[in-house]
Amino acid sequence: MKKGVVVKSTGSWYLVKDEENNFFSCKIKGKYRIHGIRATNPVAVGDQVHFILNQNEDTGIITHIEERKNYIIRRSSNLSKEYQLIAANVDQAWLLVSLISPKTFPEFIDRFLVSAEAYSIPTSIVFNKIDLYGEEENKELKEFTDTYEKIGYPCYSISAAEQTNIIPVKDAMKNKINVISGNSGVGKSTLINILDSNLHLKTSEISNANQSGKHTTTYAEMFEFEFGGYIIDTPGIKGFGLIDFDKEELFHYFPEIFKASSGCKFNNCSHIHEPGCNVIQMVMDGVISESRY
Ligand code: GDP
Ligand code: ZN
Repeated sequence: MKKGVVVKSTGSWYLVKDEENNFFSCKIKGKYRIHGIRATNPVAVGDQVHFILNQNEDTGIITHIEERKNYIIRRSSNLSKEYQLIAANVDQAWLLVSLISPKTFPEFIDRFLVSAEAYSIPTSIVFNKIDLYGEEENKELKEFTDTYEKIGYPCYSISAAEQTNIIPVKDAMKNKINVISGNSGVGKSTLINILDSNLHLKTSEISNANQSGKHTTTYAEMFEFEFGGYIIDTPGIKGFGLIDFDKEELFHYFPEIFKASSGCKFNNCSHIHEPGCNVIQMVMDGVISESRY
């Protein structure tokens, strides 16, 4: 029996790296279920697995998945009851955004942060392409950075193309299992390639990067950094799915709103119209950002 970590998944084959840095293509034996949810793929990148080698010694069979610290899923499609496991055992998430070509909207950022809160994965926001920002984008950058840092999400401003301000990002990623996400075209592949020059991910021109509306099945891949740690790229995955919760609970995943809610007059305050709502008060006072509210 050997132990390893899953670094790539194609749906039927899993690429597993053993403790001596050898790679094996493995299949799964048996059925694995995740707390009663139906998953299209029961094993994800980041999974620690046990496997046995087939006689030819370069393919294997996964016989056991070690207990996961956490995992990220998404629905296979909008209406589907089936889920796709995206990644497991993640230490921290990175949301790469751009304020121009393509523009990432705050709704997208907040959706992502809600998912990350639901999974209890610490998240940082990286604003890329600052070399392209004009006056308007720089103003927005300052507003976003103020808003999100105040809540507790570290923010970085970088240019992957010009290699500006990369070192703080690299330092924060070191020796961790990182997952990176963002709209296609924001520069994920470009950033990964300059974080470690041994990595050569394919970058795309923005013009062909727009795949909105299309549902393509894509799989995450995990890359090892020479300086220590891993990064999981999620090409084509626009956001993480959510575990089901009631809409009344949504505010639990906005840390600053959740905190403010303890000051509301009514226990069952919906923070929409009640008198004595501390959340509304803090929005009016400009402490909680209107866009988040
Ligand atoms: P991904 O889809 O998120 O992986 O994005 P890519 O890394 O493929 O980048 C998309 C396009 O944006 C490519 O043409 C990159 O050269 C370009 N790009 C990436 N980072 C920057 C940046 O910091 N500044 C500028 N001007 N262009 C960038
Ligand atoms: Zn309230």
